[in-house]
Amino acid sequence: MNAKTQEIAIIGAGIAGLAAGQALQSAGQRVQLFDKSRSTGGRLCTRRGEDWQADHGAQYFTARDPDFAAQVQRWLQDGVVAQWQPRLITLGGDGGHRLDAALPRYVGTPRMGAPARQMSLGLSVETQTTVNALQRVGDRWQLHTLEHGLLPQNYDCVLLALPAAQATTLLQTCNSVLASATADVTMRGCWTLMLRFAAPVDPGFDAAFVNEGPLSWIARDSSKPQRSGSETWIAQASPVWSQAHIEASADEVLAQLLPAFNAWVGKAPLAASAHRWRYADCESPARVGSLWSAAEQLGVCGDWLNGGRVEGAWLSGRHLAKHLLT
Ligand SMILES: Cc1cc2nc3c(=O)[nH]c(=O)nc-3n(C[C@H](O)[C@H](O)[C@H](O)COP(=O)(O)OP(=O)(O)OC[C@H]3O[C@@H](n4cnc5c(N)ncnc54)[C@H](O)[C@@H]3O)c2cc1C
Repeated sequence: MNAKTQEIAIIGAGIAGLAAGQALQSAGQRVQLFDKSRSTGGRLCTRRGEDWQADHGAQYFTARDPDFAAQVQRWLQDGVVAQWQPRLITLGGDGGHRLDAALPRYVGTPRMGAPARQMSLGLSVETQTTVNALQRVGDRWQLHTLEHGLLPQNYDCVLLALPAAQATTLLQTCNSVLASATADVTMRGCWTLMLRFAAPVDPGFDAAFVNEGPLSWIARDSSKPQRSGSETWIAQASPVWSQAHIEASADEVLAQLLPAFNAWVGKAPLAASAHRWRYADCESPARVGSLWSAAEQLGVCGDWLNGGRVEGAWLSGRHLAKHLLT
């Protein structure tokens, strides 16, 4: 690592930013994370109401890579992750098949964001801080934020752990080479419904990949381990449907998607709400790991640079940290 690099700012405290932060801090670097949300975890998250909760982002994750698998084992031991064993089927098309798990499926416990929260405990994270400009002044970086204006602290190195479109916005004014690499990436939207019932509902499955109509995934959130509160289900619209309706209102989306959900599950919910993800996933995620400009001490990581999904995000953060440390 460049001997001068001591103060590192990481923009984005999702799983990629947290993984980079942990690796750098444990190698002796001084790390400060910023996130615009109220909590860490990014798309690994749960919406909570008075008497209900539902994972409205990532549904579960798998572990293929040995390093990530070892991390999942540590999370299992710490009780922040458990295996989820839904009765999983396909619906529509030639559906109706029961799917056996090729790999164990894991969820955070008691909420999806639990592993991210655990990762953030030893790190310095400023939430509700939206970085809206970066500027290189001499050999240091200045950060400008929506909430607090120009930050007093300068950094030797800045890492962007953001969806591609959000990284591009920040890179455009400070690094045209990285900006053009990230601008080529198309992230896809996802409309997600959170549905609440007065009593358990059993249509004969806990989760389904849907091959017909506007929905692509339905899951009984209450079938995940350690969930409490009212019976809740999740339904996700397909990437094509979501993208075509990305500017629709939540009410319009509910009106169109609820009949499809009711038809598959056989019961209408008591209450339902819709969440729009503008950048849910990447159509063709890269496999480069991360992007790094040694000259400018500026890096980029995220799921879309490493095959997508939770595992890819964690590995991408570690990949970028390795660039800095070698
Ligand atoms: C609906 C949905 C379903 C999914 N299902 C699955 C699944 O079943 N399995 C799976 O493995 N993966 C799934 N994923 C994908 C998975 O959630 C992501 O791959 C992973 O969480 C990405 O992590 P990340 O750290 O790269 O990005 P993110 O989690 O997006 O983290 C980026 C962070 O940056 C913050 N941020 C953005 N802009 C700024 C800014 N200007 N300043 C400060 N902070 C900023 C955000 O608030 C966020 O916390 C799903 C995602 C969605 C949305």
